[in-house]
Amino acid sequence: MVRGLSKNDIQECLSESKRWLQSIYGWELTDNQEWKDFNLDMIHFSKTSRRGHFSKRGVKKGHKDKLIWIGLRDINMWYGYCKKTKFGLNTPFGGVNLHCKKLGLKRTMVHELTHFIQHLQGRQYSELETTENELLFVLSRDKGMIRHLIPYQVRKKQEDSHKLYGYRWRESRDELESELHNEIDNVCVMLRTKYQNDFKTNHKIHKVKSYF
Ligand SMILES: [Zn+2]
Repeated sequence: MVRGLSKNDIQECLSESKRWLQSIYGWELTDNQEWKDFNLDMIHFSKTSRRGHFSKRGVKKGHKDKLIWIGLRDINMWYGYCKKTKFGLNTPFGGVNLHCKKLGLKRTMVHELTHFIQHLQGRQYSELETTENELLFVLSRDKGMIRHLIPYQVRKKQEDSHKLYGYRWRESRDELESELHNEIDNVCVMLRTKYQNDFKTNHKIHKVKSYF
């Protein structure tokens, strides 16, 4: 079908993406007949385009029977939305090269299938949810990818600079590192607050019990 991807590979990618999403959304999804019936025939693959798209009314003239459009060009490149995820991290403005067509295709499928789930569950389309799913999925398959991700604030600066001046804001390594350290510090404070409070609660219960 496409250089480096056989029909079998593509089927495998779809099954794996569906399985992963099921592990996130649970029985509400696995029990859904439309979800169960979703198969490769409902995806249009374009060799020349780069875009991915979901439409409940069918993707474009000529492919109205398909719900998802997947452009296979540069499928190994991971361009994510600039969204403030719970995770705190984002892909950089210029994208990340996953160096693997299969991982790139699965990442795209997770994104577009997330829109399908939003449709099945009657929810608003949200790119925050797709972005979070993409990040979690890619990291679950390749933990090393975390070193290519950047804090949301840095990505935001890249976007703003591109809008204003037409080129991305280039962070100095020092700045990037200090942003990362801040993120780590924030998580440390958060955990410390959580566990110290838990400890206090347990401690109190213990004290009261021994008092009697
Ligand atoms: Zn989307």
